[in-house]
Amino acid sequence: MHESDHPAGAPRGSKNHLSTGVVHAQRGADGRTLGGSGEDGVLREVFATLAGLPDDGVLVGPGDDAALLRLSEGTAGVLTTTDTMVRDRDWRDDWSSAQDVGIKIVTQNLADLAAMGGVGTGLLVTLVADPDLPLRWARDLTAGIAEGAGLAGVPVIGGDLSSAAAGVVMVSVTALGELGDGVAAPVLRSGARAGEVLAVSGALGRSGTGWRLLEQGVLAADEPAARSALEHHRRPLTDLGQGPIAARVGASAMIDVSDGLVRDGDRIARASRVRLDLLPYAVEHLAAHLAPAVGGEEAFRQVLGGGEEHELLATFPDEASVPAGWTVLGRVRDVADAGGEQGPGVWLDGARLDPSGGGWDHFGG
Ligand SMILES: [Mg+2]
Repeated sequence: MHESDHPAGAPRGSKNHLSTGVVHAQRGADGRTLGGSGEDGVLREVFATLAGLPDDGVLVGPGDDAALLRLSEGTAGVLTTTDTMVRDRDWRDDWSSAQDVGIKIVTQNLADLAAMGGVGTGLLVTLVADPDLPLRWARDLTAGIAEGAGLAGVPVIGGDLSSAAAGVVMVSVTALGELGDGVAAPVLRSGARAGEVLAVSGALGRSGTGWRLLEQGVLAADEPAARSALEHHRRPLTDLGQGPIAARVGASAMIDVSDGLVRDGDRIARASRVRLDLLPYAVEHLAAHLAPAVGGEEAFRQVLGGGEEHELLATFPDEASVPAGWTVLGRVRDVADAGGEQGPGVWLDGARLDPSGGGWDHFGG
């Protein structure tokens, strides 16, 4: 299993007890709950919302005991990943709508496939919830899932519904996929080699900045950097087609930035036994975009440590092979260059950055 992606709503080690009553207060106009509608009733609604998604590869869809997906000709195998979001851990009802949660969990899963050079072929969705959850919330969640899946052209092929104790809402998605067209082999974390360049597919630090703003009580903003940060925190949508593109042009290692540049970069560095030297001006350049929202120092911190970005971080043989739209962030160097004893990691200005001090970790601090 891949390492767990990081929490959205609650910071690592947060002792905050977050409110759990908000969803109940937003009960739908018709007042119906999951418990009152029954499993079949809920599933009927859910699958009606999902009916418009592409289904070319679906030989047997929802409605039977299992779905049957067609395998593309010559496919190397089935890529799989899963991610779960828990209310008051990974989102807060007063910060994120059910639709936001739906979009976010789809992105989390599809970004993991993209980071291997893959694309989604089907999603399985599980909702485990307090029977008092308004049916409307489940409907909105499904609309978000449909939006995220629709943008990526991936069908929802099945799911499960189960009840839980009062206040509990948990959404889990399992994504199935395959390597993108023209991608001969999955891109692993272990393939980076000294002399290569490190690059990222887009901006960094937006989601973490959005979280900081929400934590400060800023739920909406007119200032463009702050607005984009809030938007990306709630519903991260990145160009996941960049995964297969990067793989085709020779990306040697890749990961999606789910736990922060330093933490995820450290995973590549350790798996590849190399050191990743960040270019200070590249980090400053990314931070400059966020500075109007949170100030320069916090922007710098979020570029290095902010999670849930879901842009792709990859190494390439040289600058010429870095795809258009990507930003070169640094160089891959031999561990021996660091003097050896300090080992693989992410380096800036001659110092190794502490992965536990930057990004997020479910079970850390
Ligand atoms: Mg990931």
